[in-house]
Amino acid sequence: MELASLTSSLLTSLGVAQERFDGGDLVVHSPIDGSLIGRVGAGDKAATEAAIARAHDAFLAWRSVPAPRRGELVRRFGNLLRDHKTDLGTLVTIETGKIRQEGLGEVQEMIDICDFACGLSRQLYGLTIASERPGHRMMEQWHPAGVVGVVSAFNFPVAVWAWNAMLAWVCGDSVVWKPSERTPLTALACRALFERACRGVSEAPAGLLEVLTGGREHAALLADDRRIAVLSATGSCDMGRALAPRVAARLGRSILELGGNNAAIVCPSADLALTERAILFAAAGTAGQRCTTLRRLIVHESIADTLLERLRAAWRRIPVGSPLDTSTLVGPLIDSGAGAAMDAALAEAKAAGGKVFGGETVTVRGCEGGCYRRPALVEMPAQHDIVRRETFAPILYAIRYSSFEEAIVLHNDVPQGLASSIFTRDLAEAERFLSAAGSDCGIANVNIGPSGAEIGGAFGGEKDTGGGRESGSDAWKGYMRRATCTINYSGALPLAQGIRFGL
Ligand code: NAD
Repeated sequence: MELASLTSSLLTSLGVAQERFDGGDLVVHSPIDGSLIGRVGAGDKAATEAAIARAHDAFLAWRSVPAPRRGELVRRFGNLLRDHKTDLGTLVTIETGKIRQEGLGEVQEMIDICDFACGLSRQLYGLTIASERPGHRMMEQWHPAGVVGVVSAFNFPVAVWAWNAMLAWVCGDSVVWKPSERTPLTALACRALFERACRGVSEAPAGLLEVLTGGREHAALLADDRRIAVLSATGSCDMGRALAPRVAARLGRSILELGGNNAAIVCPSADLALTERAILFAAAGTAGQRCTTLRRLIVHESIADTLLERLRAAWRRIPVGSPLDTSTLVGPLIDSGAGAAMDAALAEAKAAGGKVFGGETVTVRGCEGGCYRRPALVEMPAQHDIVRRETFAPILYAIRYSSFEEAIVLHNDVPQGLASSIFTRDLAEAERFLSAAGSDCGIANVNIGPSGAEIGGAFGGEKDTGGGRESGSDAWKGYMRRATCTINYSGALPLAQGIRFGL
């Protein structure tokens, strides 16, 4: 079946009306073969304003619904995702080009965060605090923050939204979502499933989820609008630099999940077979288009020749092809612009003395309109500027080190601070890497690669990655406001710090 009709039948089975994806101004192409798979309506400024107003009204009602009832809505949505996992996962594959396993994995991640958020809806705990005054009690309450704006990237078109939206809903917030202009179809499918979930929960008001399909200007409107209590934005560092000052100008709150430049240190004691498998998934998986993709390999000089030879042999065998073909491990880049960026990075690396292996264009029969590249492995003499930038493509730079201290310095000497890993069987090295003087990233792993996070942990990174945290642990606090409350039941009025004040 050609991709346009397959997309149309998937959208229909997910509950999206045809007029929503046929006939609008925003054209959607599949990276698999470049073919046109949808035309979506792109709203204007007035439509965005109206969506924010509806979401704000929804918030005013939803904030007073008991949190476990809010969790019930999320539980229902999770069950619909279970029922439609294959269809939505296939749509993710068609719209982003990620392989079937990863498309399904993305939907599973949504289901997992639904389960997490549903449990959380009975655990939005605050502290009680010992008061210094007799007959007083202090406590913290967590209240819904308001409307949460979610701006998302093309490479995780639905899971990252779900990390935000599921937490926001159980926390009592409403959501306005601006998906990537390259992946609006999966967003429409999520909205259709969510509307179905709402039908089973009488307290759910209209406007709990508003979707703004369109370009960057919608994200800018969210950043500027005071009714957006929290703006959670995922994408490139450039996007963060454009949006964060706008939110800051109105003293608003943002959660920023920006670019990464993730490394692995491979020590002399590493289990090389395990390390090789971990590197393959982390560097070549999702065609190098994960924020947590492994981009830098910092390898001890005593094992570098052996490891790099093993990797070159593996790189030669990686099946590059249509992501719908179950034997494929590496699908297409999102578009020809991404291919051009990869070529330019490889040329720059070569000019800086890098030895480039792989990276060629691959022609995939029947998918000539797609942009396919063999993953590249580039041995660099030093951590040149090109290595310090994030190129969103499958390029793994390898650098040799001689002392552990040098490896840590190289590791941290990039602007970004998202994910990191070390491969070692030396306990002291592992602990030093995880210590305050080790990796400076938000995610630090031992004997697994930097990508493929579970939803139970807080996800995010430091420095140019933006400092935000989403998903598990106590990331929910970012979607609520904290009220510190003091109750005086003493009948007297002692002041804190022993201050005497009275006539
Ligand atoms: P992108 O920055 O081009 O776009 C992301 C979103 O931001 C889109 O919705 C886009 O419309 C919007 N946007 C972009 N520039 C904007 C601007 N100047 N003003 C207002 N809105 C703007 O990113 P992408 O190409 O879709 O995704 C890849 C990037 O996202 C990579 O840098 C990757 O590392 C990063 N990413 C980070 C995480 C994370 O959790 N840290 C997760 C996924 C992707």
